[in-house]
Amino acid sequence: MESLKESLDKVSLSDILSVNKIRNLQNDEFLKDNLIYCKTCKTPREAIIKHKDEQYKVNINCKCQQEKYDMQEEKQRVWNNQSKNIKDLDSLSIDVNILTGYSFKSDDMSKPVISKYIVEYVRNFKDNLKNNRGILFSGYVGVGKTFYSRIIANELYKKGYLVLPLRITDLIKIYSSFKDSDKMMKLERMLKTYDLVIIDDLGAERQSEFATERIFDVFDIRYDTHKPLIVTTNLTNKDISKSSMEVARIFDRINGMCTQRFLLEGKSKRIKE
Ligand SMILES: [Zn+2]
Repeated sequence: MESLKESLDKVSLSDILSVNKIRNLQNDEFLKDNLIYCKTCKTPREAIIKHKDEQYKVNINCKCQQEKYDMQEEKQRVWNNQSKNIKDLDSLSIDVNILTGYSFKSDDMSKPVISKYIVEYVRNFKDNLKNNRGILFSGYVGVGKTFYSRIIANELYKKGYLVLPLRITDLIKIYSSFKDSDKMMKLERMLKTYDLVIIDDLGAERQSEFATERIFDVFDIRYDTHKPLIVTTNLTNKDISKSSMEVARIFDRINGMCTQRFLLEGKSKRIKE
């Protein structure tokens, strides 16, 4: 049994009644053994609590009231996270509408193995988050890499997860604006705390030592936080083997973090990348 104080935290003082007093019944309530019950779920809306030698009667939520309360809490949590997500993206000058229109419904199922996988990935995201399971989508332009990664991002966003969809060009832009250290700090904080980060279009950037180093920093931060990362790239294994040591180093890291890898082939997706 809860202590009087714990119980009192949940009820207002006016809700406390002496044990023998019975308040008026609502239409959906009935009385049993001096306690009021809910007719719908048949669980009590009152409880007797003891403190020292005294007994008190307090109002509590019946099962259906509690479920309604929990649902509202969950809705509120999702709404709060989505507002925070939008505000954070906006502060990095990332278009918050970037994910609009990407959903399981927009998938034409032309790659059923991937379609099935992404549905499962979203459904089991709590577990994927805990175990830091990332995904690599590689293939030529227009085959759907960005499409699938954005579906995952938007479906998780709808569930109230914090998602950072980051195009490689956005990333370089943020890091190039040295003057704006505020933005850089925000980006780092998001990389450390967000549930999912997507690095989109790796390999599309102009290759430079600066870009490669910054990109490695990002992977490094994410690696240290043990949180998942989804990467899309048009670089093939052949490209990577021919590229610099630094790029190879980045892909070593990606291979460690993105345990699920898809090589996409075939026709372009309808929603353009
Ligand atoms: Zn009830």
